[in-house]
Amino acid sequence: MRILVISDVHANFTALEAVIAANAMVDAVWCLGDLVGYGPDPNECIERIQSLPNLTCLLGNHDAAVIGALDLEKFNHDASLSIHWTQSVLTSANLAYLKSLPEKGTSSVFTLAHASPRSPIWEYVLDPYTALLNFSSFQTQIALVGHTHLPLSFSLDEASNQVKRELIKADDQVKLTGRKILNPGSVGQPRDHNPKASFAILDPENMTWRIRRIEYDIAPVQNRILAAGLPEKHAQRLADGW
Ligand code: ZN
Repeated sequence: MRILVISDVHANFTALEAVIAANAMVDAVWCLGDLVGYGPDPNECIERIQSLPNLTCLLGNHDAAVIGALDLEKFNHDASLSIHWTQSVLTSANLAYLKSLPEKGTSSVFTLAHASPRSPIWEYVLDPYTALLNFSSFQTQIALVGHTHLPLSFSLDEASNQVKRELIKADDQVKLTGRKILNPGSVGQPRDHNPKASFAILDPENMTWRIRRIEYDIAPVQNRILAAGLPEKHAQRLADGW
């Protein structure tokens, strides 16, 4: 069994299509939130995601802001501009879909949250200390999160209560032993200075996790961002992988 794990699509339909095309044979898709915000294609991304097999999709902080469930004051100026723009173009059916999304998901082995297990909409798990505080907030062996847009792995050493942080390189296979918090990186706005779309393939039977990166055509996305009147910075950062 292979599960495609994606997060932070951020209304980048070209990147989403590239990731889907490269993973036609997966058995299920887990999407960890932030379908919208920053990018120019919120309706297209929301409609495409619903066509994927055995989909679990969570609510992210940008999604929450668009549906009015999170205060816009929490966002920087450019991010809030794109949230207002998204609200102005979203169809009522797609707005209803975002409103239907849960904040967390759980199976026997995996806890899913957009941001962190203890604060599913907002907290950034960037450092070992924050990760350590979160290990006591979920009961399963593994937690999967997005939000930082970085393909990170945090491993808990239960004997010493220490957490090891690693940025996972493309195609490195992580064996899922012990307790971990894993992030697939971002499909639509990677922030590790690698502009390729980031996602993970999870094999829950063999307990492996592999980060993959895929190139997509960035220029048309940048053109749509500018044509929509969205902040130029959101176009520029796609080419920089930041
Ligand atoms: Zn995000």
